[in-house]
Amino acid sequence: MKIIVHIDEADQWQEALAEAFPDAQVLTSSAPAEERQNADYLAVWKAPAHLLEEQTRLKGIINLGAGVDHLLRTPGLPRQVPIVKLRDAGMGELMADYVLYGVLHFYRSMDCYAAQQQRATWQPQDVVAKSQWPVGVLGLGAIGRYVANVLHQAGFPVLGWSRSPKQITGVRCYHGDDGLGELLGQVQTVVTILPDTAATQHILDARRLAKLPEGASVINPGRGSLIDEQALLEALGSDSQPGHIRGALLDVFEEEPLPDNHPLWQHPRVLITPHMAAPTPLSDAIDQVIAYIKAFEAGDSVTTIDPEAGY
Ligand code: NDP
Repeated sequence: MKIIVHIDEADQWQEALAEAFPDAQVLTSSAPAEERQNADYLAVWKAPAHLLEEQTRLKGIINLGAGVDHLLRTPGLPRQVPIVKLRDAGMGELMADYVLYGVLHFYRSMDCYAAQQQRATWQPQDVVAKSQWPVGVLGLGAIGRYVANVLHQAGFPVLGWSRSPKQITGVRCYHGDDGLGELLGQVQTVVTILPDTAATQHILDARRLAKLPEGASVINPGRGSLIDEQALLEALGSDSQPGHIRGALLDVFEEEPLPDNHPLWQHPRVLITPHMAAPTPLSDAIDQVIAYIKAFEAGDSVTTIDPEAGY
């Protein structure tokens, strides 16, 4: 069996997979071209097109992250080969920390206090009951569902939205276009944890942002393509003319790194983080990849992604 790894920490992956599969040849993508051919498995994050194009007998491709948007856009991706991706693998907990931080930032008026500090203003803000602060979670997959549960346990009413209907304890679930509109009209904070697909591009556009109640906030740790950034800037308004969106915590952007001159950097009510919401914990990810390869080899069923749906 031949496994090729392509990711930043490829040496650690190579070592761990070689230990798990002592009879296998485990290479990194920096191996000479002739050695890279005829791999059985690719374990990759942002693979170069040539690595995919040169393979002839792959049994599986393992995406070393939760989002398969980059992989599905890579030229030379063999369409008939099953693709699996990391599911949770420790990312749910990290994402839940990030989102809870963001929800509390707005719920406990930390944005107001940051602005007040600039003016040396000592002015406590009212605190409403958490029951008055419904949070919408768009995307109820491995990570979104984890986040929804943590928000529910923290005491916030949680409304969730997904493509297919769901029943999740503690989460009021919606689906479909009408469901999204209904959800947006009720939430104080909306969190986007959807994949980047043809159907989710600019899912929060001007029309949908306008459905959010006055003073609502937006948290996007999913993908930059989910939000129309220009529409968000307009909905945020300026200090002299505030719009109906109170603020945003953004981890992902249409262009990354966010260009130096992008107006989002300068907006006083936008918090920016550099795509760090849920980095993949290495040991959890390695364990999951080992389990995938064992399942492929044993002929057991694995949950593959749906290339048509894009996730
Ligand atoms: P999953 O594939 O497990 O789940 C995706 C969810 O989105 C599902 O609930 C799915 O619905 C829903 N969905 C997909 N398309 C639509 C649609 N058109 N309309 C409504 N709902 C839709 O993904 P994960 O939870 O593992 O990850 C979600 C995303 O988070 C990743 O794709 C990635 O972009 C992002 N991410 C960001 C990170 C960061 O550090 N910033 C780290 C990790 C992930 P259904 O359940 O019906 O299929």
